[in-house]
Amino acid sequence: MAVAENIRCSHCGAPVEFKPGEIIATCRYCGFTTVIETGEAFNFEHSLLLNKYDLTQMDDLTGDWMHSGFMKPGDLARKSKIVEKNLVYLPFWVVSVEAKTSYKGIFERIAPPIVKDGKIQREYNWLVLAREAAGFPTRAYDVPLEGKIPYDFRKIEGFAKVLNSEIERDEALELAKQQIEVHHRFLLQQDVDKIVEMTTEYEVKQMVYLHAPIWFIKYDYRGESYQLLIDGATGIVVKGDIPQKGF
Ligand SMILES: [Zn+2]
Repeated sequence: MAVAENIRCSHCGAPVEFKPGEIIATCRYCGFTTVIETGEAFNFEHSLLLNKYDLTQMDDLTGDWMHSGFMKPGDLARKSKIVEKNLVYLPFWVVSVEAKTSYKGIFERIAPPIVKDGKIQREYNWLVLAREAAGFPTRAYDVPLEGKIPYDFRKIEGFAKVLNSEIERDEALELAKQQIEVHHRFLLQQDVDKIVEMTTEYEVKQMVYLHAPIWFIKYDYRGESYQLLIDGATGIVVKGDIPQKGF
């Protein structure tokens, strides 16, 4: 952990700890959030989703997951051993945006092909993970935004890890736009086979910086390690590595 001598929390004066590549840091002593480059206070809404589970309950949830579904080896729960349970508060940008795509394309499923145009208009709370490489399946994560509260460092468990942001607001917005564009391109393929023109306009309503509790569970099964990611706010398994049957 690098400690920059010249960056101190402008709220409580404690040194602000951060790693290379981190751009926005939250003080672990008072919860105040600072932009590292400038040392200035972070001016956007900073929210927190509360973790509702403890270490023991994680054993139960992991056991339930191992017992459920047809895809898993029958002895998975019996023969597995949980070797790590880490609670990590991951940083996200939540981009509340209305996206309007106008397109023109060619519908080739009939002869002769016809030119069609249309619009896709959707509202999103689009989630962008604020880390460059965290191995987290953001699109599979249905963030329970209704439970968010203003960031409160006192609600963070002593054993939990809070990750800082490596992505600033404008970059997060660009990423959200790119991802929405890809999504709309996918949607309009139901309507046209070849896209001739496509433009998307965005109306950004709000951008919120959010820390969400994710449990990283590591378990061993027959000599191999596997990972399970569980949403600490809902107990839902976001992603689980399943050993192949018949080993
Ligand atoms: Zn502080």
